[in-house]
Amino acid sequence: MRQKLGQHFLIDESILEQILTTANIQQTDSVLEIGPGQGVLTKHLIQNAGEVIAVEFDRNLVDALQRTVGHLPNVHIVYGDARHLDYQAVLTEHLPSQQRVKVVANLPYYAATTIVLAFFQFPHVITSCTLMFQKEVAERITASPGTKSYGSLSVICQYYSAARYCFTVPPSAFQPAPKVESAVIHLEVYHRPPVFVQDEPFFLQMVKNIFLTRRKMLKNALLKNMAGKCSLAHVQEAFTHLHLPETVRAEDLSVQELAELSNVLISYQTAK
Ligand code: SAH
Repeated sequence: MRQKLGQHFLIDESILEQILTTANIQQTDSVLEIGPGQGVLTKHLIQNAGEVIAVEFDRNLVDALQRTVGHLPNVHIVYGDARHLDYQAVLTEHLPSQQRVKVVANLPYYAATTIVLAFFQFPHVITSCTLMFQKEVAERITASPGTKSYGSLSVICQYYSAARYCFTVPPSAFQPAPKVESAVIHLEVYHRPPVFVQDEPFFLQMVKNIFLTRRKMLKNALLKNMAGKCSLAHVQEAFTHLHLPETVRAEDLSVQELAELSNVLISYQTAK
C-alpha cells in the first residue's frame, strides 16, 4: 500500500452503485477513470460503459490491472500522472470515435484539486466529472457565495462547470480507512463558460488573490494583493460602476459579479 499516492481502496459496493448512478453511465459512453487502483470501480465501468480509459500512476498497479482486466476489449490502462496529462492526446490515441468522455474517479486526495483544475483545460473532450474528494474539498468546490466554504476554488470550479454536492461517504467505505470523511460531487463541464470573461488569466489571478485575505474588505484585498494591477482610482471607479457597497467582501460576490469586476478592471488597463 502506498500512502504517499493517496491509496484508499473502495470496499463498499453500495457506494460504487451510487457513483455509477450519479455519473449516469450508459453503454454508449466513453469513460475516463483516474486512479483505478485495484480496479473495483474499473470493473463496474467496463461492464456498464463503452470504452474505458484508466490512468494510474503506480506502475505495480498498472501491471496488476493489465493482468486482471487488460485483456478485455473495451479497456485501456494508461500509466501517467493525472496532474500533468495532455488529456486531448490520451483520448485521441485510445478513442478513435473522438467522443467526449465522462470522468469518474475516486481521486488521490493529495493531488485532487490539481487534477480537477487540469480537467478544465480540456472542456472540448470532457463532458462531466463524477469525483470522490475529501468532504471538506467537495464542500469548497460546490459552495455558494456568502458561506464559509466559498473561496477561489468554488469560483474557479463553478466558472468552468455546474457543480453539485451529491453524497457523503464515511471512512469505513475504504480500505485502509482515511482519517477524514469523503464526498462525491458531480461537475457538468461547460463547453464554453456561460459567464463572460474578457481576460481569463486576469480573472483567475484576481480570484486567487482576493480570497487570500478573505476577512478583508474586497477593496483592500484588491489594493493589497493586486498591487500593480489596480490603482485606488480604478478600484473606486469599478465599485461605483458595478454598484458594489464599500464594505463588500470577495466571499459575498457570485461568479457572475466577480467576472464583471474583472472585466471592468481589465478594461482600465487596456485603456491606459
Ligand atoms: N479507484 C480506486 C483507488 C482510489 S485510491 C478505488 O476506489 O478503490 C487513489 C488511486 O489514485 C490510487 O490507485 C493511486 O495509486 C492513484 N494515484 C495517485 N496519484 C495519482 C496521479 N498523480 N495520477 C493518477 N493516479 C494516481
